Amino acid sequence: MKIDYPLNFVKTSNIIETGKLLDKFLPSEKSYVVVSGPTKSNLISLDILKSLKNKPKASFKININSHNKIDSIRYEISSMNVNYIVSIGGGVATDFAKRLAYLSCIDLISVPTTVSNDGMASPIAVISENNRKKSLIGKMPDIIIVPIEIIKEAPLKFIKAAILDTLSNISAVNDWYYADENINLNTSQSMAINLSKMAASMILNIKNLLLDDERVLDTILDVQLLSGMAMTIAGSSRPCSGSEHIISHALDELGVAEQLLHGEKVGSISEFTLFMQGKSDKNVSRLLRNLGIKKGIPGFENMTKNEMIKVFRLSKILRPERKNILDKYDEQELYEKYINFLGE
Ligand SMILES: [Zn+2]
Repeated sequence: MKIDYPLNFVKTSNIIETGKLLDKFLPSEKSYVVVSGPTKSNLISLDILKSLKNKPKASFKININSHNKIDSIRYEISSMNVNYIVSIGGGVATDFAKRLAYLSCIDLISVPTTVSNDGMASPIAVISENNRKKSLIGKMPDIIIVPIEIIKEAPLKFIKAAILDTLSNISAVNDWYYADENINLNTSQSMAINLSKMAASMILNIKNLLLDDERVLDTILDVQLLSGMAMTIAGSSRPCSGSEHIISHALDELGVAEQLLHGEKVGSISEFTLFMQGKSDKNVSRLLRNLGIKKGIPGFENMTKNEMIKVFRLSKILRPERKNILDKYDEQELYEKYINFLGE
């Protein structure tokens, strides 16, 4: 993967300021299309577009980020001579636009309307394929404009999920060390690890963690940029995604804990994967309890032993190329470790 940084990361206050800034990036000689989500972010995009002097060639409302949908829009815009794709929306619209921009080789301006995971400034796009989510290469946005007032309006569980996705960096990095003992010899890998750990420690060091505090939001945006940089330098999601993400993907595939956001799942699971790595961290546990999260893998509280074993069995085969701590044990042993973890 080519190392690719966002050229610009700007925080704006509201829709008007965002429109003014977009006007500067999109003068009349530039042509662009807009990708937004289906509901709230579509309304926000209409509001922003109203104020722009240069209007888009087309606008697309996205409710599913599937390969087919990406291909059909890619085909549609291929004859439009477009300079920019502008995405205005949450996770689905952003992932869609990142993949579309990557495949079409078109520059990307991203206006996130929520933050709930580290996808805002990463070169990874999560795409659905046959009900299975896949992390694929996407284009790192060239310009990111974050409208703070809009992000603040999103439910606080998005902020909580973003904190927890960053927290999972600690277990992800441990897995990477486990997979590759020569990691410190590789400068780009060790830089990626430093950035990832820095993001997690900034989260752990927030004093007085109040989800509706603007300073907390500010920190969350900063750590997301760090996590995105870490993934870019590594050329993969490795520094921010380890065994905790793999177990979470297994839950997704089995339709467990679907009411929770990605970040909520991976952050909670990381307490267990840290235990498995022999690196339980009381600061991580304390933060989870502060956020009202009970110890344990989400959904496991309602499962039988066999159901839990099934999750571990699936986790072990989901990403065979990504060595991690789960490889060390069979599913029965993982179940036993889990019971030990709960009783610890
Ligand atoms: Zn994640």
